[in-house]
Amino acid sequence: MNALSPAVMNKLDALNYYTVTKKYDLAFPRLTADVEADVVVIGGGFSGINTALELAEKGITDVVVLEGRHLGYGGTGRNGGQVMAGIGHDLNAVRKHVGPEGLETLFKIAGLGAGIIRDRIARYGIDADFRQGYGYLAYNDRQVKTLRGWAEEFRAVEPDVEIELLTGKAVQSIIGSEVYAGAIKHMGGGHVNSLNLLLGEAQALVSHGARIFENSPVISVEYATPGQDRITVRTNAGSVRASKLLWACDSFLNRLEPAIASKTINTFAFQIATEPLSDALIERISPIRGAYSDIRPVIDYFRVTNENRLLYGSATRMLDYIPEDLAAWNRELMLKTFPYLADVKIDLAWGGPMACSANLFPQIGTLPDRPNAFYVQGYSGFGVTPSHIVCKVLAEGMSEGSARYDLMASIPHVSIVGKDVARAGITSAAKTWHQLSGYFNGRR
Ligand SMILES: Cc1cc2nc3c(=O)[nH]c(=O)nc-3n(C[C@H](O)[C@H](O)[C@H](O)COP(=O)(O)OP(=O)(O)OC[C@H]3O[C@@H](n4cnc5c(N)ncnc54)[C@H](O)[C@@H]3O)c2cc1C
Repeated sequence: MNALSPAVMNKLDALNYYTVTKKYDLAFPRLTADVEADVVVIGGGFSGINTALELAEKGITDVVVLEGRHLGYGGTGRNGGQVMAGIGHDLNAVRKHVGPEGLETLFKIAGLGAGIIRDRIARYGIDADFRQGYGYLAYNDRQVKTLRGWAEEFRAVEPDVEIELLTGKAVQSIIGSEVYAGAIKHMGGGHVNSLNLLLGEAQALVSHGARIFENSPVISVEYATPGQDRITVRTNAGSVRASKLLWACDSFLNRLEPAIASKTINTFAFQIATEPLSDALIERISPIRGAYSDIRPVIDYFRVTNENRLLYGSATRMLDYIPEDLAAWNRELMLKTFPYLADVKIDLAWGGPMACSANLFPQIGTLPDRPNAFYVQGYSGFGVTPSHIVCKVLAEGMSEGSARYDLMASIPHVSIVGKDVARAGITSAAKTWHQLSGYFNGRR
């Protein structure tokens, strides 16, 4: 079955926390004319809007963003809102491609994310409930050992941030659960209302003069040819002719551009939001009112919200499937972590696809033989903070060029053969392998 068939999406598209807490009343027209621009961006999630905003801040304001549904329809309006450190799951996965110096650069880039989000919120006065306080959680001593190494790496990148390894009873100073053996308290990370962040960024983008069109799905692209150096992007009611193009559709690309469609495969994550809880209960769950994730190969992640809800998210561990009852699925996991929430009502349950690359590292670059056609995708479930970093670097590549763009774009992407016919089988095998390897890399 097509991973994004209407039947699948109907289930995952249920009303979610972000749609009920949306603060921006922004709506953009449908594209109904033939227009010209310097840059056309396909996809109105963090990737499309952030890259466009970065370009606008450099003075490249003649940008058109085309969104097929509405801004934030994709992962950007469905996620956990975790603002975590880092850029990919494990930077060592790309060590062989970038060498020790390149890895050093990637470590530096990886530390920029939360700062970019904070600066942007401050610069444009974005109302997105950003709150600092993150906990990386370990269930056992092997994972605590891993966290010890992470704490050192985090401190090296962000020496001024409060980063502390906690073990034993001290763990409960940041989380009201007895299931964890250790934690890193990281006060540089935190959480954000991702849809409001996106919409605030979109509002900032149009304030620079860029144009956004919603309900404007792109149906075809004619690339530049020797006699015609511009790219034409068509919807069924209009077109954009531009010097440069960015594909930013992530898990919703389907097969529209085969050259990049083959480089990722979709898997799914699911979330619940509890009813609003008392201040006392929130204080017990999270004395730092923070966000958390464990470090297993497939994580549970959760956070408290401004309205005193607990958001709890997860994915299937080995076999890749969409649980019948999304609320019951996550509630069971939530109760393993917080047994005292047994009487709490679940108000909302939803989910969404995530485009995963073979090395779980986000992909940027240009299409083969098409130097004006850029792409970004494959955050592998870890895109809120990384998209802010990656799109800053990507915008450098799309404008003046930079060594760090060249570095990131040089990382090769493996094609995932058979992904359209055997998606569930391939993702299940990958998850199982990922779980097993967790024993050897200190994540189990
Ligand atoms: C349930 C869930 C939980 C997650 N939790 C976290 C988390 O806690 N922390 C974290 O870091 N990451 C998380 N992620 C991942 C993160 O949300 C994504 O990596 C990130 O939002 C990707 O942003 P994007 O802009 O690349 O893609 P998207 O937000 O998916 O945007 C792509 C957009 O492209 C549009 N589009 C597609 N095709 C076309 C077309 N032909 N024409 C026009 N528009 C088109 C889509 O409608 C969509 O709006 C989660 C993802 C999911 C699904």
